[in-house]
Amino acid sequence: MSGLCDGRVVIVTGAGRGIGREHALMLASEGAKVVVNDLGGEVDGTGGDKSPAQQVVEEIKGMGGEAIANGDDVSDWEGSQRMVNMAIETFNGLDAVVNNAGILRDRMLTNMTEAEWDAVIKVHLKGTFAPSRWAAAYWRERTKAGETNDGRIINTSSVSGIYGNPGQTNYGAAKAGIAAFTIIAAQEMARYGVTVNAIAPGALTRMTENLGGMGSLEGEAREAMSPRWIAPIVTWLCSAESAQVTGRVFEATGNILGVAEMWRRGPVLEPVDDPKLIGPLVKELMAQAAPNSDMGGKPVTGPGRPTPY
Ligand code: NAP
Repeated sequence: MSGLCDGRVVIVTGAGRGIGREHALMLASEGAKVVVNDLGGEVDGTGGDKSPAQQVVEEIKGMGGEAIANGDDVSDWEGSQRMVNMAIETFNGLDAVVNNAGILRDRMLTNMTEAEWDAVIKVHLKGTFAPSRWAAAYWRERTKAGETNDGRIINTSSVSGIYGNPGQTNYGAAKAGIAAFTIIAAQEMARYGVTVNAIAPGALTRMTENLGGMGSLEGEAREAMSPRWIAPIVTWLCSAESAQVTGRVFEATGNILGVAEMWRRGPVLEPVDDPKLIGPLVKELMAQAAPNSDMGGKPVTGPGRPTPY
C-alpha cells in the first residue's frame, strides 16, 4: 500500500522523545525518509547524549523504513546547517522540516532569571529560525536552478503563547513569536513552492507530566493526551496533499483538531489627538471588542485578564 509521504525527505527536530518521536514514527510509516534530530538532553535543556534519536532510528529501520540520527543543537547556527546538509546528502534532497524541539523553564515574571529567558527564547525561536533558514536557502537555490519544490515547514507553537498562560512569559513569547514567524515565512516562501504552517499541540509528555495535574490523568482522559494524536496532522502537512494550506496554526490534541484564527483587527474609531479624550473612546472599543480566548478556547475571565470595561 502506498504511503501519504512516500519518498519524501523530512527532518523532525527534537524527535527522540514525546511529540517529535511520534511525528518521526508516523512519517516513516507513511513512507518518508526521516532525519531524527535530538540533542539528548534534559527537559531544562542541559545534558547531551545521542541515544534517544538512535533508538527512534532503530525503531523505524525495524519496521522497514529509512532514517538517520542527528545530534545537533537546532538553536546553533552551524549545527542547523549541518542537520539540513545531512538530510540533503543522505537522502538526496529535502522536502519538509518539522520544527518541534523545545524546552521549558517556567517562572513567574517577578522571579525569572536572564538565563531562563535566554535559554527558552534561543531553543524555540532561534531553533525554529535556523533550520528553516538553511532549508529556505536550499529551496530558493533549487528554484533559481529551474527545479520545482513541494516544500514544507511545520512549526510548533502553543496555546500558552497564542492565548496566554501565567508562569510562561518566556515560553509563551517564543511560541507566539513562532506563530508570527509562520505567517510571515508563509508569505515569503510561496514563490519557491514552500508552505509554512504551525501546530499548537497538547499532550502528556516529559514536558507536561508535572503541569496542572496532567501526570495524574487516567483512562480515556490520559489516552486523549497521548502524543500520538498530534502526528496525523503533521504527517498530512508534510505530504503533497497539503499544498494549498499555508500560514495557518492548527490546534491538535486527542480531543480536538482545530484552526486558531489568530490576531484580527477588532472595532475601530476615529482617532483624537488629546489624551484626555481617549478614555471614553477606549470604553467604547472595550464594549465592542470580542474578549481574548483562554487556553481552552473560551473567553477569558478573572484577575488580570481583559474583562468588559
Ligand atoms: P519533550 O518530550 O521534552 O520533547 C522535546 C524534544 O526536544 C526532546 O526530544 C529534546 O531532546 C528536544 N530538544 C530540546 N532542545 C533541543 C535542541 N536545542 N536541539 C535539538 N533538540 C532539542 O517535549 P514535547 O512535549 O514532546 O514537546 C515538543 C514540542 O511541542 C515543543 O516545542 C513544545 O514546546 C511543544 N508543545 C508541547 C505541548 C505539550 O502539551 N506537550 C504543548 C504545547 C507545545 P532531549 O530530550 O534529547 O534533550
